[in-house]
Amino acid sequence: MAASPVVWVNGPIVVGAGPAGLSVAACLRERGVPSVVLDRADCVASLWQYGTYDRLRLHLPRHFCELPGMPFPDSYPEYPTKRQFVSYLEAYAAHFRVHPRFNTSVTSARYDDDAGLWRVHAENGGVVTEYIGRWLVVATGENAEHVLPEIDGIKDFCGRVSHVSEYKSGAPYSGKHVIVVGCGNSGMEVCLDLCDHNALPAMVARDSVHVLPREILGVATFSVAVFLRRFLPLWLVDRTLVLLSWLLLGNLEKLGIRRPSRGPLELKKTRGRTPVLDIGALARIRSGDIEVVPGIRRFFCDGAELVDGRRVTADAVIMATGYHSNVPQWLKGCDFFTEEGYPRVPFPDGWKGQSGLYSVGFTRRGLSGVSLDAVKVAQDIAMAWNNQTATTC
Ligand SMILES: Cc1cc2nc3c(=O)[nH]c(=O)nc-3n(C[C@H](O)[C@H](O)[C@H](O)COP(=O)(O)OP(=O)(O)OC[C@H]3O[C@@H](n4cnc5c(N)ncnc54)[C@H](O)[C@@H]3O)c2cc1C
Repeated sequence: MAASPVVWVNGPIVVGAGPAGLSVAACLRERGVPSVVLDRADCVASLWQYGTYDRLRLHLPRHFCELPGMPFPDSYPEYPTKRQFVSYLEAYAAHFRVHPRFNTSVTSARYDDDAGLWRVHAENGGVVTEYIGRWLVVATGENAEHVLPEIDGIKDFCGRVSHVSEYKSGAPYSGKHVIVVGCGNSGMEVCLDLCDHNALPAMVARDSVHVLPREILGVATFSVAVFLRRFLPLWLVDRTLVLLSWLLLGNLEKLGIRRPSRGPLELKKTRGRTPVLDIGALARIRSGDIEVVPGIRRFFCDGAELVDGRRVTADAVIMATGYHSNVPQWLKGCDFFTEEGYPRVPFPDGWKGQSGLYSVGFTRRGLSGVSLDAVKVAQDIAMAWNNQTATTC
């Protein structure tokens, strides 16, 4: 058997070329530290390029989504489209001369105590290469793998079952009954898109969820929350947001959408559950274009039985059931990450582990969390890099 090729990396090994990997590599370069970025996909930001629907726009206003060192072009709207965001990321990589090694899937990474180095195995076209370096930056994201729940009878369903990451537009579903499992941002927006393409969606709202207006009196709800948090405790901001939402959106229980007892910011902070920012789905629920149904008991060939005993027919099922981190699958021999693939130490301190291990983008705070991590990680590595260089010289 031929031995694996070995690559010595002079600088950190960054796993992932999404916004997190790109921004940390850019911040490192700004500080004079080279890095090698590995990604299993064939492009930067593969989640955005391949795993999202066409009508997607950033959920948060643009200034919360910019990466360090490069603002969005002035011509971009308040909520850039997915295409615009991808163009921005491509321009970002080009500007900071970040050239990831694509189609390179990291299968294992382990710290070698004896050598004091990270050994990272990555597969590309059947060839496994070992990358060796002093620092490892984990930037594979909170959305690396799909969550596909096992629902009774799903194998008996005769139509197509897909994950929302495969959904591009409602056009192929025109005139069809579609069950959308999940009522988060993606589930709601896909239902809206299905309506716009004359499909007939039934949205499964098994769990309670906070739905907030995207804007309050013309100001982004997220900006309102950030502003209020400067003066008020989290619980009071939560109560204010829920009250304002109730005034602006009405009682959603009547529509079949239950509000959790804990507030939206508290749930985001403790459980990573993102509130839905409504961009029109509620109006289509009120008009009856989107049917809201409770949990599913089991699927049949032509539809599903609900927990309340009703039956709905369906030609297709779309699982808007979320994602999970894949870090535990490949990062071995260290307990910095939990079994769910998040740093054990919570935000804001979960960016740095032992022996040159770092994480970027596991803060449950979207792109603003990515930027905060990237700057801190790059500063820390640059300090060690400069010390090392000074010692060597
Ligand atoms: C539909 C949708 C809409 C969103 N909208 C917003 C928004 O408006 N605002 C916001 O702040 N956040 C939003 N988010 C959250 C979003 O995921 C993050 O903001 C952002 O993409 C996180 O960047 P990341 O680099 O951490 O992860 P990702 O973008 O997921 O990038 C991770 C990269 O790691 C690579 N990778 C994974 N495993 C391996 C491996 N083993 N080996 C090699 N490479 C690997 C992947 O190919 C991928 O390119 C949205 C998420 C989704 C799904």
